[in-house]
Amino acid sequence: MSPERYQRIRDVLAKRQTDLTVCLENVHKPHNVSAIVRTCDAIGIHRVHTVWEEKYKLRGGTAMGSQQWVRVDNHDNISDAIGNLKSQGMQVLVTHLSDSAVDFRDVDYTKPTAVLFGQEKYGVTDEAIAMADQDIVIPMVGMVQSLNVSVAAALVLYEAQRQRQIAGCYDTQHLPEDECQRMLFEGGFP
Ligand code: SAM
Repeated sequence: MSPERYQRIRDVLAKRQTDLTVCLENVHKPHNVSAIVRTCDAIGIHRVHTVWEEKYKLRGGTAMGSQQWVRVDNHDNISDAIGNLKSQGMQVLVTHLSDSAVDFRDVDYTKPTAVLFGQEKYGVTDEAIAMADQDIVIPMVGMVQSLNVSVAAALVLYEAQRQRQIAGCYDTQHLPEDECQRMLFEGGFP
């Protein structure tokens, strides 16, 4: 590996936000999953969580370009996924167009946070809504009722990035050094 490549990877890993993640619930169109993982990489998310019910399973597995640098952890069901995130001390926010939802810009993303996004047609499940800590919404005043899920993810994640940048979250390394060394040695996730 060239010294430049080594330094580039080190710089990327130094900004990884280990306490910020997304959970994709039955988001099953490969181009949407791919676009969301790409945005996650861009803002420094290290791990993404997924749940696919049988009927939504991606053909050919998880087809994602940035997957080499963003780990994708698949869970058997949404209850396991949210339980796992909560056990890590994360607030779980669910993107959902409901009356009780708060504007996505009014949330503190500098706390350990997981943001849940739902299936392209039907949105998130009732179970996910019941288990989450807070519904968040991106205001809509047009004729369409919702955004494409990858667009919604980009908006929410860049708000999180903005807040974390101001709070200095990108100024110190959060990823354990042994994990950095492993990724440098193996060239990302297998
Ligand atoms: N009919 C579905 C519903 O009521 O949830 C629409 C699903 S939308 C196309 C797919 C996903 O994108 C949603 O589950 C949510 O994660 C996200 N999304 C889209 N527009 C949103 C908005 N305005 N606010 C919050 N999340 C949104």
